[in-house]
Amino acid sequence: QNNMLEVRDLHVSFQTYNGEVQAVRGVTFDVKKGETVAIVGESGCGKSVTSQSLMRLIPQPPGQIKSGEIWFDGKDLTQVAEKDMEKIRGKDIAMIFQDPMTSLNPTMTVGKQIMEGLIKHQNMGKDQARERALEMLRLVGIPSPESRIHQYPHQFSGGMRQRAMIAIALACAPKLLIADEPTTALDVTIQAQILELMNDLKEKLETSIILITHDLGVVADVADRVVVMYAGKVIETGTVEEIFYRPRHPYTWGLMGSMPRLDLEQEKELTPILGTPPDLLSPPKGCPFAARCKHAMKVCQQEMPETTEVDSETHKVNCWLEHPMAPAVEPPAEVVG
Ligand code: SF4
Ligand code: MG
Repeated sequence: QNNMLEVRDLHVSFQTYNGEVQAVRGVTFDVKKGETVAIVGESGCGKSVTSQSLMRLIPQPPGQIKSGEIWFDGKDLTQVAEKDMEKIRGKDIAMIFQDPMTSLNPTMTVGKQIMEGLIKHQNMGKDQARERALEMLRLVGIPSPESRIHQYPHQFSGGMRQRAMIAIALACAPKLLIADEPTTALDVTIQAQILELMNDLKEKLETSIILITHDLGVVADVADRVVVMYAGKVIETGTVEEIFYRPRHPYTWGLMGSMPRLDLEQEKELTPILGTPPDLLSPPKGCPFAARCKHAMKVCQQEMPETTEVDSETHKVNCWLEHPMAPAVEPPAEVVG
């Protein structure tokens, strides 16, 4: 068993004036040691809520983990006391965000912020922590760390701040790094550098990574496996190969079809997925994609499709088209390369 993380049937809701929003509705997935798993889907699909739940960072209230299990390092994180959770955060599980300023402390030097975790979680002395902080700044590619270590976040450029945040997140060599849109705010060159850096660190430190993103180009670059979410549910999972070259769910076809492809003519119109996701205040009882799906059948409105293994044990789909009695439907031409 080399799973670093096992999420089982996770349900997360938010109380609002209009009622209960069921943001995450029975999410199940695994992350292996040293593996990068991308969670993809439109905004509001529950990918960020899922990742925040893993860290128990859902504001409570109005949020609540209603049920399910999050197994990490032999513990179910939904059951761990808050004071133990504090130890796990930053030490065993670290998180980086789209906007580094939300996690960097503007009143503390970058060096102090790296050292803080080391002193608190790794029982390092000050000198040892400073050495390690310098090493981390070097590792994430920040030039002249000896002077940078004394600077404040506002003295760093956007890309450098992102690197600093990664240095802080990785200083304690976490077993799991959760990166929520880590490069969205950066320009393309720096974005590529940061992703390469994350790949490097994954190899050097054997960190498992959960990458939350809507950028499929990024997924293709760094992920090993992909979890596709829709309306609070996982609707397809597979290796990058499987999801990009042999997607089986009509929603994934739409996602892949809307991705710009280098091998197709420029004028070729992209396939947008028409319509909007269901209201999670009262989610449909059948397939959540039914209202937008060209292939929807009667059963799709009435019953939720079960998880079906296709092609290999890594590739799983929730769609009635996989049922033996369903009509044969081919993915659209722009999806199959
Ligand atoms: Fe479409 Fe039915 Fe499959 Fe849902 S279950 S994606 S509605 S075919
Ligand atoms: Mg988000």
